[in-house]
Amino acid sequence: MNKKIRKEDALYYHSKGRPGKIQVLPTKETNTQRDLSLAYSPGVAEPCLEIAENVENAYLYTAKGNLVAVISNGTAVLGLGDIGPEAGKPVMEGKGLLFKIYSDIDVFDLELNTKDVDEFVRTVKILEPTFGGVNLEDIKAPECFEIEARLKKELSIPVMHDDQHGTAIISAAAMLNALVLVKKDIKDIRVVVSGAGASAVSCTKLYMSLGVDPQKVAMFDTKGHIHNGRTDLNDMKRQFATDQAYASLEEAMVGADIFLGLSTADIVSREMVKSMAKDPIVLAMANPNPEIPYPDAVEARADVIMATGRSDYPNQVNNVLGFPYIFRGALDVRATEINEEMKLAAVFALAELAQKPVPDIVNLAYNETNIVFGKNYIIPKPVDPRLLTTVAPAVAKAAIATGVARKIITDWEAYEQELST
Ligand code: NAP
Ligand code: MG
Repeated sequence: MNKKIRKEDALYYHSKGRPGKIQVLPTKETNTQRDLSLAYSPGVAEPCLEIAENVENAYLYTAKGNLVAVISNGTAVLGLGDIGPEAGKPVMEGKGLLFKIYSDIDVFDLELNTKDVDEFVRTVKILEPTFGGVNLEDIKAPECFEIEARLKKELSIPVMHDDQHGTAIISAAAMLNALVLVKKDIKDIRVVVSGAGASAVSCTKLYMSLGVDPQKVAMFDTKGHIHNGRTDLNDMKRQFATDQAYASLEEAMVGADIFLGLSTADIVSREMVKSMAKDPIVLAMANPNPEIPYPDAVEARADVIMATGRSDYPNQVNNVLGFPYIFRGALDVRATEINEEMKLAAVFALAELAQKPVPDIVNLAYNETNIVFGKNYIIPKPVDPRLLTTVAPAVAKAAIATGVARKIITDWEAYEQELST
């Protein structure tokens, strides 16, 4: 655990006052008998009838349109593994808290006691009427792939497994900006990926859709390089298999332009970073400890651009830069899904935002005076208030442009104004 956070502090924080981190609050006045007659019987029958006539009216008369389900079965919680649904609940409540403070989205966290894919899918499917969107969370691979794919197909509200796509979107923005700084063309770069799980698969797919050549990607799992000679690969891994076979990670790293780490701590040495191409980009995102410690990588190579999942070094790839705003944009146009174009819109919005001058409030929050686009600032900071007014509209516009929006926004200035108040 982070040195500054003591176990007793964390436990006290969660247990003090009312245990846990979230509660439900009414949004309407409840002072008089009349208020209660409107809120409940007999007044409540009127919106019921309106919705019975047209279910879309649920968005007008209930909390559905601003309510996201954060759903997990606790099988891949943080880096803690399969610790069970109850043990995952603090994380899901935490996610609810982040949704609320960054984009004012309300969350019901739902911890499901099942590892069975059919049962999981069926459960979420029958919960659909309650929610405007579904954030799948901390579900282990490979089950997470099938669960997400089936729910996306069967539900008409947005579904996103954040461990896969959140990381992909934010790290892709970091990668694009790093490439701008080192002036390399995405089509030419060679990428080494350590990890072949939920996040590595999704990141690599997104990088490929941005232009990375599949032939120039070498992916590794615990058994080594993923190549066509392997007989132990599942379908998800097989799509990344190449004819060329590397004997080791060390061998693949020689001359590579990008290292993408979504595996485990301390598997990349200084020598490996030294052997990479000029101006190497190292996205070492194993949590809490990256594939190579930040100080080791920058000591090994003065020209390295490095990002990690940690808040105590520059360039933190943190999912909180994505999910609050992606769902905000999707909910505000009542999107039926979160499609590839919406994810790419979020990538470009994040990348462009980091290239813009930083407002004082962000400098202040980090005790800095001059955060500028460069090696130590390739992605926006989580406290940046412009994230909401930049990423959410970009996602909403992409939803409209791709025909998945059920509500059309035309006055974007008014929308951004509304978001920022
Ligand atoms: P996952 O689905 O369990 O996948 C882990 C993958 O890493 C598996 O493919 C595994 O190989 C591979 N692996 C483990 N040890 C390895 C080693 N020594 N060499 C090569 N490959 C190895 O986990 P995940 O959700 O993708 O997360 C992976 C890591 O990334 C975790 O540390 C997580 O905290 C981190 N992460 C960070 C962020 C962020 O910073 N924003 C976001 C998401 C994930 P096998 O397939 O052979 O088991
Ligand atoms: Mg997670």
